[in-house]
Amino acid sequence: MFGLEISRVTKTFGAHTAVDDVSMSIPQGEFVCFLGPSGCGKTTLMRMIAGLESPGEGAISLNGRDITRQPANVRKFGMVFQSLALFPHLSVGENVAFSLRLQGRDARQRKARVDELLTLVRLPGMENRAVSQLSGGQRQRVAIARALAQEPPIFLLDEPFSALDAKLREEMQIELRLLQKRLQITTILVTHDQREAMSMADSIAVMGDGKIQQYGSPLSIYRAPSNRFVANFIGLSNLLPVEVLDHETVRFGANILKVAPMIQPAVASQATLSIRPEDIQLTAANGEGGNTVSGRITFIRDMGSSVEVHLDCDGRDVLSVVQPRDWMGAGTGDIAHLRLPQNQCRVLAA
Ligand code: ATP
Repeated sequence: MFGLEISRVTKTFGAHTAVDDVSMSIPQGEFVCFLGPSGCGKTTLMRMIAGLESPGEGAISLNGRDITRQPANVRKFGMVFQSLALFPHLSVGENVAFSLRLQGRDARQRKARVDELLTLVRLPGMENRAVSQLSGGQRQRVAIARALAQEPPIFLLDEPFSALDAKLREEMQIELRLLQKRLQITTILVTHDQREAMSMADSIAVMGDGKIQQYGSPLSIYRAPSNRFVANFIGLSNLLPVEVLDHETVRFGANILKVAPMIQPAVASQATLSIRPEDIQLTAANGEGGNTVSGRITFIRDMGSSVEVHLDCDGRDVLSVVQPRDWMGAGTGDIAHLRLPQNQCRVLAA
């Protein structure tokens, strides 16, 4: 297989398991984000891929070749960290050419490659500038150019944009994504920012507790979170306690609801129903068609582009987000009916 293969990789520090039996395949040319809360093991997994940390168990292979014990300087993966770690006493050009000099490339070759890379990251002609004279975004681009200098087979970035302000971060995200598509380079980006992951990645590995909780396209993860952790971490979800009656029916309080079919329903067990706030339809009248629950409106926030309505349904807080044109204009204390489309109601594994 062409790409990176991670098989049953585990890493422990003392009694703490930082990465716990992780397996995944990253096809050649994909952009993958490791996304998860602080301490979930993202950086440790990336450091093992880079060769900066060795796995306690498991194997890593690239294009079918085992690289588990190969040192980082032999793997030659391109790396950009949050700190960027540029050499402050060297010029832009010398920073970018650093690895080329170590490789023994002559001055003419180095100059040609530096020119090419600085054009690629939109800093043409800046090779003689001091790093200290650059803006945050320009330094970011120098770090990217330096990491790409040796044409690495894999490009690794650990929270590279977290020091940038929101606007610049978005610009750099778009720039990096366009660059990655142009170069078709297999790229892994570590982030705890779900917006960053959703907007950039071909696939997201959502990590929690040292494990991959779900791995798939951003939309598939958003539309069909596979467990409570993912539903909570990606976007907003209503999580409601239900009793499973059969493979597509649950009881929520006094209401019987149809849900997206479950493959292995644990009948009669307690479970969690997840539904996104924007998937709940609110009406004043209890219409036909079933799958409705009534609730009393407890709080309304009109955000201009959407209306957030909190309701008390059977003692549970349920959030519905309505488009202004669909908003029925009710007030706090009013009774409303919530239609929960069957396919948007997912029963989650514990
Ligand atoms: P963050 O977003 O905060 O960087 P992360 O998801 O990248 O978090 P890791 O840095 O991989 O998490 O750390 C995972 C766990 O392993 C944490 O509990 C961390 O304290 C621990 N850990 C990481 N490196 C070491 C080390 N060298 N020695 C001991 N414990 C470590």
